[in-house]
Amino acid sequence: MAAYKGARTSGGLPIGSIDPVANADQLAELVLRAGRQAYWQWLPESDSLLPIANWFKVTGYPDHSQMQMSLFLEAGTPSSGGSASADKVFNDLVTGRVDDADFEIRLCKSSGESFWAQIWCTATHRDQSGRATSVVGSVTDVSASKVIEERARFAASAFDTHIPLVITDAQGTVVQINRAFTNLLQYEANEIVGHDMRILRSSKHDEQFYEDMYAHVLAGKRWGGEIWRRRKDGTEVPLWQTVNVVRKEDGELSHVMGLMIDISERIAAQRDVERLAYFDPLTDLPNRRTLMSELRSELEACALSGARGALVFLDLDNFKTINDSMGHHAGDTLLTQLAKRLRSAVRRDDLVSRFGGDEFVLLLKGVRGDEAQTKKLDAVVKRIELALQEPYSIDGRNIHATASLGVVTFPKEASTAEDYIRFADAAMYQAKAGGRNKHRYYEPSMAAHANERLELEQALRASLNAGQLELFYQPQFAHGEGAVAVEALARWYHPELGFTPPHKFLPIAEESGLINDLGHWVLTDACNAIREWSNDGTMKTIDHVSINVSTAQFVDPQFEATLVQECERAQITHAQVRLELKEGTFVSDVAQAAKKMKALKDLGFHFSLDDFGTGYSSLSHMRKLPFDEIKVDRSFVADIGTDEEGDAILRTIIQLGLNLNMEVVAEGVESDLQRAFLLENGCTRYQGFLFARPMSRPDLQHFLKDHG
Ligand code: C2E
Ligand code: CA
Ligand code: CA
Repeated sequence: MAAYKGARTSGGLPIGSIDPVANADQLAELVLRAGRQAYWQWLPESDSLLPIANWFKVTGYPDHSQMQMSLFLEAGTPSSGGSASADKVFNDLVTGRVDDADFEIRLCKSSGESFWAQIWCTATHRDQSGRATSVVGSVTDVSASKVIEERARFAASAFDTHIPLVITDAQGTVVQINRAFTNLLQYEANEIVGHDMRILRSSKHDEQFYEDMYAHVLAGKRWGGEIWRRRKDGTEVPLWQTVNVVRKEDGELSHVMGLMIDISERIAAQRDVERLAYFDPLTDLPNRRTLMSELRSELEACALSGARGALVFLDLDNFKTINDSMGHHAGDTLLTQLAKRLRSAVRRDDLVSRFGGDEFVLLLKGVRGDEAQTKKLDAVVKRIELALQEPYSIDGRNIHATASLGVVTFPKEASTAEDYIRFADAAMYQAKAGGRNKHRYYEPSMAAHANERLELEQALRASLNAGQLELFYQPQFAHGEGAVAVEALARWYHPELGFTPPHKFLPIAEESGLINDLGHWVLTDACNAIREWSNDGTMKTIDHVSINVSTAQFVDPQFEATLVQECERAQITHAQVRLELKEGTFVSDVAQAAKKMKALKDLGFHFSLDDFGTGYSSLSHMRKLPFDEIKVDRSFVADIGTDEEGDAILRTIIQLGLNLNMEVVAEGVESDLQRAFLLENGCTRYQGFLFARPMSRPDLQHFLKDHG
């Protein structure tokens, strides 16, 4: 161990009085005193702390002051007990575990100001047992460098944030990046430091963009904006970047710092929102808004170029049935499949939009007005219709869905985009009214129809709410027995519009959704009639009341409950109610209809197949569905005797019903000739003007008294 040889002095030597080369000791002392360190000696036995040099300079205590080492240490760390680490070091020195040591500690100057001290110390003498008897050392005030060091540490930790950062020099060469930068842009520090920032440029901006940015930054302004950057793998990512410059003291640019925030999620969300505004999320087709703006610009383009186009308004005929009976998921699947078919049925340029619900509007561009082109339009419509014919595969089942189409060509005189939609809608409605599964070209008279329809709908709604509809009853006769049943038929007299026949208002009720309320009202009224006739004995004459049930009603999941509830309320038996269904009710999903009918039959209700022979019924359908009765459509009856073939078909129909063990009722029997033919061919039940017209409840009671 090197013992300290310096004299313990407190006075100073005049600098000019020594010969720098000759007196090495004096020189050493001069160097010692010129330094920023204070030197001391500590005598562990007495705990005396003896200043050697610069004591006043560093601690503020007089150069010859004497103090206890332990007190001196404690003064710097009064509350925290921070001298504990110093105690340990000194203890190690004294016991001989170490010969020298250095450490940092907070000490206190005589002024009370605390400072960071770096202590270096070494034991100079030991007794025989090895315990130190003298320790010398130095104290250096390192507060200033400590602050710098802390700042540096803080800066480093701030740099190491989750926000991607890049620092370049004034020339744009990357100097430093942080981990977040690597995570975002995939470059490791060694791959990018030393490279020009240019390697991060994406294809989204031109040279001018960067020039503007740098001009802005160099003008001393902070730059912030959206910028696309290229990752190492070549993909591009949108960022929000701010650029700050760091200047030297003389104002010259030293570094540029870029701070980046990944905004790809925000941009994607924004895109989603935009998509939602213009596209239908289910089918991915443009929505009504997009169609309207496309139509408007197409109309403008046509006005300039003289080109023509067409709108096709398409509405599914039995969508509600499918939706109600199979669930919304099935409905969604159907619409999605339909959208695809429509898309592939037309040209790329044409626009297929989902207008709402089960309505689709197709905008066909570049259709010309001459005859050849009309034929071409016909061909397009055919193609669309063809695309709709195939059944849809939904949940493993084959579902049929037909649609009605309205077509209008443009331009027409002084018409707006909205007008064309109305025209196409009106034409579509005519296709519906004409028996569905058809298409119609718009004619001016149709718009008037559409208005009339709207008025009717409003009037019907009002009448229904005001209880202004009435149920009439038409008896059914059995050969040799008189009246055996009645069919309930809705009648609507409007104070101003007068009488509107069911075939006019029922489609409106179906289209507008009023049919469910109307159907419920029919059910209630018919059940009340049965109750009344049970009380007055009329029901002894007639076996049941037939009620027409529309498709929307039948597929309503609440139908069964409502039916049972109404019978219970009126206290009538289920067998007194016969439900008339038309074939259209079950074509879309025979299995489902069969299930529902079966459940109702188990409850005691009976079923009649209305308008038989007019629809799509196949024998296999009929066998699957538990009908008790068929009603031969009155068109067959009306044709009796006019053509051989028709008569043959009628015979077959009657035989078919009888063979299936069903009651066969002929509708619309108006003449004795017809009745005779029917009877001759095995049909013994009749409904028609020949026997009785539909009549009000009181009229029927009188009638049955005479004919029961
Ligand atoms: P439908 O079920 O075929 O009803 C029989 C129609 O034939 C009734 O027409 C009836 O008045 C008519 N009719 C009866 N006998 C003769 C005849 O000898 N000659 C002629 N030419 N016609 C005869 P209406 O009352 O106009 O009803 C038309 C259709 O409206 C009904 O056809 C039925 O499908 C529907 N309908 C009527 N009332 C209701 C109802 O309350 N609910 C539902 N869902 N549909 C109803
Ligand atoms: Ca009927
Ligand atoms: Ca009928």
